[in-house]
Amino acid sequence: MRIPRDAGTSRHQDAIWDMTTNVDTALHESSAMTDPFGRRISYLRVSVTDRCDLRCFYCMSEDMTFLPKADLLTLEELDRLCSAFIAKGVRKLRLTGGEPLVRRNMMSLVRSLSRHLDTGALDELTLTTNGSQLARHAAELSDCGVRRINVSLDTLDPDKFRTITRWGDLDKVLAGIEAARAAGLKVKINAVALKNMNEEEIPSLMDWAHRKGMDLTLIEVMPMGDIAGGRIDQYVPLSLVRARLSAQYTLTDIDDNTGGPARYVRVSETGGRLGFITPMTHNFCESCNRVRITCTGTLHTCLGHEDASDLRKPLRASADNELLAATIDRAIGLKPKGHDFIIDRRHNRPSVSRHMSVTGG
Ligand code: SAM
Ligand code: SF4
Repeated sequence: MRIPRDAGTSRHQDAIWDMTTNVDTALHESSAMTDPFGRRISYLRVSVTDRCDLRCFYCMSEDMTFLPKADLLTLEELDRLCSAFIAKGVRKLRLTGGEPLVRRNMMSLVRSLSRHLDTGALDELTLTTNGSQLARHAAELSDCGVRRINVSLDTLDPDKFRTITRWGDLDKVLAGIEAARAAGLKVKINAVALKNMNEEEIPSLMDWAHRKGMDLTLIEVMPMGDIAGGRIDQYVPLSLVRARLSAQYTLTDIDDNTGGPARYVRVSETGGRLGFITPMTHNFCESCNRVRITCTGTLHTCLGHEDASDLRKPLRASADNELLAATIDRAIGLKPKGHDFIIDRRHNRPSVSRHMSVTGG
């Protein structure tokens, strides 16, 4: 049961509600978002923090410098911003990070945003998490109307897990996944394919996920943000992974196109679904329906471009959302046609200087 508006909500939540009710009404009249290439923007990914309790070596350096807390949008501002996008036609909202579940009072934001599920303005509220804090929050996520989540897990080997994440505890993540499943959440596993690290383990990771009825999606390393070491040492093309899997399994393309970058196959031997996200070897931009907001309120209309629009300024400039809506419209009007990531020996540098943890993966 979700908590109704007046039944025992905290003052903090009340403040969010009061502010956003006005905002919702004001924005419902504004037009839906369509970019210059006719793509309807219906999916928003929001990084609620750049901080994380892990340090995956392909994502962050060990001594990552995080943003000053004062630069981050407050939970109320995040709610207002998300609600503005929902009023402009966003139907799916994904909360990510950094690690979204390490943000203090994160569940109050989830609870507050869930009102858009109640009204039918939003089809889906979801999140991407490393799973380390999931055991504590799974039941409440489900209670807030979250139905599906993505959990990132690159290996089932505790030592490799510690190497990849620098200090993570695999058991905590596995307990988080089980808690989520027990709470009725559908879990999809995301794994980054890493050269000389988990390449060999992908079949067993897939068998494990499919045995539990979870989809597995494989991701190619993207050249985002400066990290220790070059990308060439990490990158393995998924075309190669797929070819290797095909020697062992029967993979049949299926047309489960979610408007996102993943392309899916059905694996006959396991009966499960396997997704491939191949920004490096396959350009998926033509059907792109999404934009991203960082935890400081910067809007990126393309993961692979340095394009950026500051939404924090118009958000803070006035209590009504006219300026904000105009800034959003202008940014959507400039959404690039596509990206151009390259990793080879000549381009062993980040294509985009911001880290995935800032943009929201
Ligand atoms: N902390 C959460 C997690 O790990 O799921 C959410 C944020 S994380 C940035 C989102 C996803 O981005 C994870 O699946 C992670 O593996 C992936 N990721 C991070 N850096 C990446 C990179 N350089 N290339 C490809 N995927 C990356
Ligand atoms: Fe943290 Fe996710 Fe980045 Fe790993 S991939 S360091 S869990 S934000």
